[in-house]
Amino acid sequence: MEEMPEKIEIRQRFPEWREMLKPVKKFEEGRLSYISLPKQVDSEFFKMPFGDVERDLHDLKLPENWKELFLEAMKETLEKNRAFKLFMDICVRCGACADKCHYYIGTGDPKNMPVGRAELIRSVYRRYFTLSGKIFGKWAGARELTEDVVRELYYYAYQCSLCRRCSLFCPYGIDTAEIVWWLRRILSRIGLNQRFMTISIEASARTGNHLGLLPGGMAGAIQQGLEELKDVTGFDLHTYINKKGADVLFVAPSGDYFATPHWFVMLGYLLLFNELEEKYGLTVTWSTYASEGGNFGTFHSYEAAQLLNSKIYKEAERLGVSFIIGGECGHMWRDKHQFINTMNNPPKNEEWKRFWENPDLGELAEGLRGVRFDSYASGEHGWIHILEFTAALIEHKKITLDKSRNDHWAATYHDPCNVARGMGLIEEPRYVLRNVMNKFYEMPEHTIKEKTYCCGAGGGLLADEIMDLRMRGVMPRMMAARHVYKKYGVNILLTPCAIDKAQFPHALEYWKIPIEVGGPMEMVGNALVLTAFGEKPEDRQYDLRGEPLNKEEGE
Ligand code: SF4
Ligand code: SF4
Repeated sequence: MEEMPEKIEIRQRFPEWREMLKPVKKFEEGRLSYISLPKQVDSEFFKMPFGDVERDLHDLKLPENWKELFLEAMKETLEKNRAFKLFMDICVRCGACADKCHYYIGTGDPKNMPVGRAELIRSVYRRYFTLSGKIFGKWAGARELTEDVVRELYYYAYQCSLCRRCSLFCPYGIDTAEIVWWLRRILSRIGLNQRFMTISIEASARTGNHLGLLPGGMAGAIQQGLEELKDVTGFDLHTYINKKGADVLFVAPSGDYFATPHWFVMLGYLLLFNELEEKYGLTVTWSTYASEGGNFGTFHSYEAAQLLNSKIYKEAERLGVSFIIGGECGHMWRDKHQFINTMNNPPKNEEWKRFWENPDLGELAEGLRGVRFDSYASGEHGWIHILEFTAALIEHKKITLDKSRNDHWAATYHDPCNVARGMGLIEEPRYVLRNVMNKFYEMPEHTIKEKTYCCGAGGGLLADEIMDLRMRGVMPRMMAARHVYKKYGVNILLTPCAIDKAQFPHALEYWKIPIEVGGPMEMVGNALVLTAFGEKPEDRQYDLRGEPLNKEEGE
């Protein structure tokens, strides 16, 4: 791989703010998301208004009364959502957020500054919903709602990954991601939905997962995982799918069933669950109905998020489990922590209720007594992240680990936005990594934990047609990765997020940084000694990628 130049220049413009009110007419190739196709939004499960027309940004084919519909949807949002109304009113244009967005940093486009992005819809708000805007028009920063303005709104609503980094730096706590989320919903009312996202939402509503995997495909993938683990460990392992009466329902992002490097994380999950059952009797089941932990509905609208979330609690109740563990998915964690129990009723089965009266794993498997979850999740909620779960097992010395099995890796850790900034899961992944490997190095402080930079493909932006935007947006994260590669010889970037795992391999190649991508549970799987099966630390000869362990330096 050829070396990257030491210096790259991206021109950032700071126009006079009234110039910002002029809608752009030129849409850059590689930054414009395709609009959904008729058959997607008109499907039986995912009905959206005006979804029966094929359109693109140059030819919107809006319904006749589109303006009325748009303003009606906006009025409804302002009335129902106080945060949206507040965020429309209180920005003082101080500029503290301006250079905090990775898309602005990577593109230099002033309308990608968070304040610039919010002004696109705020200017419409002023014109139609404030007295000053109605009277003074553009002098008050207001603008007419025209088709050109709608084009621009769509274009920039899908250049925001809803990462919320900007909100961390805003003295008023304005959350531009929330503004964009509601804007996407308003656009959807006049038939404008992004194609990649709607494909995923529709597939998940129809089959249970974003990839549209049918039960046989999913079960086959898990079976394949067990066969690979036999090659690595020498043991016949098993798992449960749709098992009524299991203790736990496990829900992973669907990328983990077959994509690379996600797959190695899947192997890590399977090893852990086998050890826990063999040693303590804790049973974990997968589900072919609730086969997706992610929820692309979260990137679109409340209604879509609610629809996709509903299946998981229903399945937990049908199977009679006591709680749910969520796998390595970024937005799943915010969706399931922040939204799910405000959208859908939690399971009502006796096992669930009983466990959450005293959330101690000893209630399910005596040997695990003392591993408690009351500080993580209320009983109403019932979700535990796989890394919280693993951290608790390590803390209570319930599993045996051999760190040296990961000595061929020098790792750094990327905090997914929704996991770290969104829901504060910051120390547990680090605690797990420090317990399963010897070489772990942090990227620079201003790029990690709450201040983490987005992977550039979150919020529904993993679409191929916007690869230019993705590669520009990921630039700050890549520069931080390059720093630890050069300084410490880091050779793997670990992240507990399926979208990151899909984005980073492209990004590392694009930015010429020769390191691998993986997830923390892969490292757990490597280090985990299957004591219940009689395994000794020195027995394992291969890692989960099939690479020989204990390689000589330079081999
Ligand atoms: S939420 Fe993230 S992507 Fe969106 S404007 Fe803020 S920093 Fe940029
Ligand atoms: S930091 Fe907050 S108040 Fe300042 S310009 Fe940005 S959104 Fe407006």
